[in-house]
Amino acid sequence: MAGMTSSTRPLLNRRLAGFGTTIFAEMSALALRTGSINLGQGFPDTDGPEEVREAAVRALRDGRGNQYPPGPGVPELRTAIAAHQQRHYGLSPDPDTEVLVTAGATEAIAASLLALLEPGDEVVALEPYYDSYAACVAMAGATRVPVTLRPREGRFHLDLDELRDAVTDRTRLLLINTPHNPTGTVLTREELAAIAELAVERDLLVVTDEVYEHLVFDDAEHVPLATFPGMRDRTVTISSAGKTFSFTGWKVGWVTGTPELVTAVRSAKQYLTYVSAGPFQYAVAEALALPDAYYTELRADLRAKRDLLATGLTEAGFEVLRPAGTYFITADIRPLGETDGEAFCLALPERAGVVAIPTSVFYDHREAGAPYIRFAFCKQPAVLQEVAKRLKTLAG
Ligand SMILES: *Cc1c(COP(=O)(O)O)cnc(C)c1O
Repeated sequence: MAGMTSSTRPLLNRRLAGFGTTIFAEMSALALRTGSINLGQGFPDTDGPEEVREAAVRALRDGRGNQYPPGPGVPELRTAIAAHQQRHYGLSPDPDTEVLVTAGATEAIAASLLALLEPGDEVVALEPYYDSYAACVAMAGATRVPVTLRPREGRFHLDLDELRDAVTDRTRLLLINTPHNPTGTVLTREELAAIAELAVERDLLVVTDEVYEHLVFDDAEHVPLATFPGMRDRTVTISSAGKTFSFTGWKVGWVTGTPELVTAVRSAKQYLTYVSAGPFQYAVAEALALPDAYYTELRADLRAKRDLLATGLTEAGFEVLRPAGTYFITADIRPLGETDGEAFCLALPERAGVVAIPTSVFYDHREAGAPYIRFAFCKQPAVLQEVAKRLKTLAG
């Protein structure tokens, strides 16, 4: 590449400096090189329901969605998204003005931040964060202000005083994620009510990433922020078919909110991808209408997998922070006499033939995340059993 430009200016612009490669590429390459089982990246190793796959095939064959679908998404899917919000949460977005289909939640996040932020704005987000948040805030020219989730009694908690203190006169929006990746925390009604109160009091917008809305276990309950008093008019709610229906490759996501918010987000979205995934949109419309039994079985299946991996990790000597949602488990490496998650994860493939992700990469305050590592458990039981067996060597 040398000689391509005469200046010494770096090719990657300043906003994206530091976002060169993601940890997932590095760790997946390491998994491949060492023949390790990869519990780093979070995608299921079993595809979603056969009838939903068939619906995609039918759409392709019938010529539905093979050409540019409508900018806001196909009407069938927008109607299904609105019906889903009504059925599960009693919300009633208008499919024509309050729903926007996106290229996965990833584009929904990017478009929301690019649309709603001015350079210099501050965004308060829960740390550790999903990896695209920091990059999108940076691309919008805004500044991220992390509020650290801290473990207490086996669960990562939001400190409401810390959240209040993070809001300044420059804060434009709160970027919330519940159920939360990577910690598996599901924010409680009390925590959400406090976030809502703060947003109303300080007149903030809220972008809430709820892609794990259906992956909650035990007594945990997912409550959308948009259902709290005063939140309807200020909340952009984001979700996606990837996690709920185990089709992460389809990249069908969506935004719901007031017509004003959705119009703003669409203004950015139309110049990112314009549209995507035409035939898959029809299939996801059918998926959203699956009976309650689908969701119940999905949860039961993942809960069993969580318990299987959690037991294996505990037996290997980790302290497990049992997740109430998502398909990730965070483990504390300190009981193994280790303190540096990054070094630990780099060595783990050689030591035990398993790949995990050091959670510190999702923090600005890296030291706060140093002793934690993340494992995905959306894998077949036999894979999780093999992981448990391999990790037993760590206990010595
Ligand atoms: C997977 C994930 C996304 C991305 O969803 P896509 O629909 O695949 O773009 C967004 N947010 C969180 C927290 C995720 O875990």
